Amino acid sequence: MTFPHANLISPSLAAKVRAALRPERLLQTAVALVEVPSPTRHARAVADRLADLLRADGFAVERPQAGWPEAPAVVCRYGGGLPGRTLQFNGHLDTVHLPFVPPRVEQGELFGSGASDMKGGIAAAVEALRILRDTGLLQRGAVLLTAHDLHESPWGDGSQVDRLIDAGYVGDGVLLPEYLADVLPLAGRGMAVLRVRVRRQGEPVHEVLGGADRPSVIAAGAEIVRRLAALDERLRAEVHPLAGRASAFVGRVAAGEIYNQSPVEFVLEGTRRWLPGTSPSDVRREFEELLAQVARTTGTQVEGEFALGRDAFEIQPGALVQAFQAAHAAVCGQPLPVGAKPFVDDGNTFVVRGRVPAITHGPRACGAHTVNERVPLAELERVALVYALTALAFCPAEEQA
Ligand SMILES: [Zn+2]
Repeated sequence: MTFPHANLISPSLAAKVRAALRPERLLQTAVALVEVPSPTRHARAVADRLADLLRADGFAVERPQAGWPEAPAVVCRYGGGLPGRTLQFNGHLDTVHLPFVPPRVEQGELFGSGASDMKGGIAAAVEALRILRDTGLLQRGAVLLTAHDLHESPWGDGSQVDRLIDAGYVGDGVLLPEYLADVLPLAGRGMAVLRVRVRRQGEPVHEVLGGADRPSVIAAGAEIVRRLAALDERLRAEVHPLAGRASAFVGRVAAGEIYNQSPVEFVLEGTRRWLPGTSPSDVRREFEELLAQVARTTGTQVEGEFALGRDAFEIQPGALVQAFQAAHAAVCGQPLPVGAKPFVDDGNTFVVRGRVPAITHGPRACGAHTVNERVPLAELERVALVYALTALAFCPAEEQA
């Protein structure tokens, strides 16, 4: 298989990078990060740990608050000295709020909270930085490592990475080591969490003591479910060649206490996903209008929340993609097939807010958002090599001109 920049990385360059990889150092770093609990909004201790590790290794570290003084971000820039592009490695240090699982290694895999999502990936990015420093191969351009809190929803809102971008901590391209390894995501849908609360006036009341004559929050909620299903049906026509289709999805509803009582509240939760090119504010307006119509026709009060996760994105197969594919081919034997990102992550934010290409690529890991996260050590090593080689192909922009 051929691709435009197959010659960006020579076999001898790839061999030098491979020789500089130190698997035991990479594993120690991953364990050092996983062993510090860091549920979203409480990532200070692990950010301090990462900063200490980097400083102990001789790197200069900045700690910008980026709007979240409870856990200042970690920023480390390593440059070759000569002008060139900056490649950013960005990761979140927070984990979902599940019982803490300490790190352990079994049969070549690292287990523990954040092993997959995404402290293992951050450790791989740190190892890539060390490889570049130890070999002295990065002579042009720079690598910018950024790590932060507030990623995982619903506890975080993504605002710390927003503030980092606003403050200029943005490279010319970004790699994010989330657990996606089988496709190179050139596009992804935007996503918002929908939360609806339908209420009626008064107290809960027995069906035969007037309850049957009260406005039914359950009927109103059912009407919202029906209208969202009709919307989803219409959205089947909105298709992106890579990202798939726009959608409206209901994942939870709840109402009522017992069979013969008229309740006062109905709640619904779901998602709305849209395609690159669609404005999230238009999507929000459509949702609010749907709720307003149901409120008018059912005599209930309907409150809706449209919690924006991340906007949709699309990147072009430019210099970053070519550098990444050359690195992937050098490490894994072939470039990755292009595809879509199934979830939303901070890569969407870098593309939409930072206006730079961003590629989510990390270890083939399992169990994200469960208490059984695990990642093969070989995958961490593979990601470290891909990241270091992508930097070597991407950063020396002048030489390619
Ligand atoms: Zn993650």
